[in-house]
Amino acid sequence: MKIIMLGAPGAGKGTQAKKIAEKYGIPHISTGDIFRANIKGGTELGMKAKAYMDQGQLVPDDVTIGMLLDRISEADCEKGYVLDGFPRTIPQAESLTNALNERGEKMDYAVNVDVPDEAIVTRMSGRRACLACGATYHIVFNAPKTEGVCDTCGEKLVLRDDDKPETVQKRLTVYHDQTQPLIDYYQQAGILVTVDGTKDLNEVFKDITVVLGE
Ligand code: ADP
Ligand code: ADP
Ligand code: ZN
Repeated sequence: MKIIMLGAPGAGKGTQAKKIAEKYGIPHISTGDIFRANIKGGTELGMKAKAYMDQGQLVPDDVTIGMLLDRISEADCEKGYVLDGFPRTIPQAESLTNALNERGEKMDYAVNVDVPDEAIVTRMSGRRACLACGATYHIVFNAPKTEGVCDTCGEKLVLRDDDKPETVQKRLTVYHDQTQPLIDYYQQAGILVTVDGTKDLNEVFKDITVVLGE
């Protein structure tokens, strides 16, 4: 099963993608996590990406598309995957569609996690991230067992630099300009599913599994 997660920054794409990956036994591929791992590792790709990420801007398509297409060519992607944070622009979506077409494949679902902008800023200011394993928490809505520590790997949790309110506003503007058009794109492709992302995270997951199947 091949799934795309759509939605504003902070809508809950990563939270749901992790649950989907676990339930259906497919890899969770987050372009944001790949960029952050590169920043942490001090790679050239990481340095390039950081300049854009810190400004709340998208990393250019020429960097991002090749990176993602390489990732989905790896052996663990044979049975499918859940993409979180890609595509974010129409050219990214078209490149993905074309690359899959060439292999006689297609995406199965684009799951749009719908959350209004008003709710996003609250979510982001409470988000805490583990840069080691990609897990995310919320200080109120999804707290870790021990404050400030990742349940999964024990690393220290951080407030991401780009989750500060000024940058979140910028990311929302970028989302509406460049990423929201993908909702129409996947609607026209006949694979769009929209879920109400304002519900409790377990409710949202239940709504998604009704569509994807047990
Ligand atoms: P969020 O959890 O808010 O959706 P991500 O972790 O997906 O954020 O992305 C963080 C940042 O990484 C983005 O603001 C952007 O700068 C960069 N990024 C991630 N994915 C992409 C992509 N597909 N295209 C361009 N930039 C991306
Ligand atoms: P995205 O990947 O779309 O940027 P995340 O999955 O990282 O979003 O979620 C953003 C923040 O909101 C995190 O702190 C997360 O714990 C929290 N969150 C996710 N889903 C919900 C929900 N349904 N209700 C309340 N908070 C949520
Ligand atoms: Zn962790």
